[in-house]
Amino acid sequence: MHGATARLAPYASDAGASRGRRHPEVPAPTRDAFQRDRDRIVHSTAFRRLVYKTQVFLNHEGDLYRTRLTHSLEVAQLARSIARALALNEDLCEAIALAHDLGHTPFGHAGQDALDEALRRADPASLGFEHNFQSLRVVDQLEERYPRYDGLNLSYETREGILKHCSRRRAAWLERIEPGGVGRRFLDRTQPSLEAQVCNLADAIAYNAHDIDDGVRSGLLAHEQLLVLPVVRRQHEATLAEFPSLAGRRLLFEVIRRMLSQQVYDVIDASAAALSVARPEDGVAVRRGLALIGFSDGMNEEIGDVKAFLRERLYRHPQVVRVTEAAKDVVRDLFEAYAGDATQLPKQYAEREPRFVAIADYIAGMTDRFALREHARLFGPSASLLHSDVEAAS
Ligand code: MG
Repeated sequence: MHGATARLAPYASDAGASRGRRHPEVPAPTRDAFQRDRDRIVHSTAFRRLVYKTQVFLNHEGDLYRTRLTHSLEVAQLARSIARALALNEDLCEAIALAHDLGHTPFGHAGQDALDEALRRADPASLGFEHNFQSLRVVDQLEERYPRYDGLNLSYETREGILKHCSRRRAAWLERIEPGGVGRRFLDRTQPSLEAQVCNLADAIAYNAHDIDDGVRSGLLAHEQLLVLPVVRRQHEATLAEFPSLAGRRLLFEVIRRMLSQQVYDVIDASAAALSVARPEDGVAVRRGLALIGFSDGMNEEIGDVKAFLRERLYRHPQVVRVTEAAKDVVRDLFEAYAGDATQLPKQYAEREPRFVAIADYIAGMTDRFALREHARLFGPSASLLHSDVEAAS
C-alpha cells in the first residue's frame, strides 16, 4: 500500500498480517500498524526521558557521552540499514529499536541491579526487576496517554521484539495473563520475527562501538590498548594505510566507523546466506528452528573478545566502579525511603498495589538527574558523592 511493502521478502513481517493489538482499533488512514507503533513510542513520556538516562554510567559530565536516547537512535539506524538490505520490514525494526530500552532505570545497569536486589529483598515472592520486562510494562501498562486503555496498545510484533530476553518464571507469569502471547516463545524456545532478531544484533553492534568511543573520549581507555582486539586492529591498520598521518579523535572515529560497517556487512552476508539455505516460506516459518539473523562465526568470536575487553577494562575500571557503587546506593536509599514512608511518593504511585512494584516502577521511570534530586531532597545535599557531579552538570 505504501510502496515499501512491495519490496518486502516473503519472510518479512507484514503490517497487514499483524496479529494485532490487545485492544482492537480502527486502522490509521495513512500509516500502517508498525509506523503507528513507532509514532506512539516517539510521543511517549518514557521515550523523552531517555535523553537524561545514561547508557554506561561513566560519570556525570553527561553531555559528551551516549545517553539511552542517542543509543536508541543509533540502534534504529543500524537496524533499518540491515533490514533494508535483507528486504525486511524497516518500520517494525525502527519501532522495536526505539522502544527497546524504555524500561531502563537511571544510572545504567548499576541502577537495574540495585533495584532488582531491593525489590527482591522487600518482597521475596516478587519477580524482581529486569529492564526488558520493564520495557514491555512501559508500553503495555505504565504509559498513561490514551483514554480507553493503559499503555500504548502496540502491535503484537512490536511487543514481541521489545521483550528480547525473559526468564521462564516471568514468561510463565506473562502466559497466565496473555495466553499464547509474547511470553510464549520463551517457554517453547522458538524465535521472534526476523526484524526482532535484527534489532538484537544492531543493539550489540551499537553498544560495543559506542562504549569504545565513550571509553576513549573519557580517558578511561587508551586507543593503543584497543589494538589487542583483531576487529579494531584490522580497521586501524587499513585506515593508516590510506591516511598515514591521521591521529587522535579523527583516527578513532574512522576506525569505529569502519568497524560498524564491517559488522553490518557481516550480519547482512551471514544472514542472507542462512536465509537462502533455510528458505522460510513466510514470517511464521522463521519462528521455528534456529535464529536466521546473525554474525558469521568468525565475527561472533571477535565480538566476544570486544565484550570481554570492555567488561575488564571499562565496566570494571576503578573509576567506573566507584560511581556505579555510589549510583547503586542512591537507588537503594530511594527504595527504602519510599518503602518506609509512602507519603514521599506521588499520589498515583502511593495508592497502587502491589506497593513494592509501584515503588520500583516509580524509580525505574526516573532520569539520572531526577533520581539525584530526589535523593538530595530525602537525604540531604551531601549524602552521595554523585550530588556534586549533578550540581556541576546542571
Ligand atoms: Mg540497548
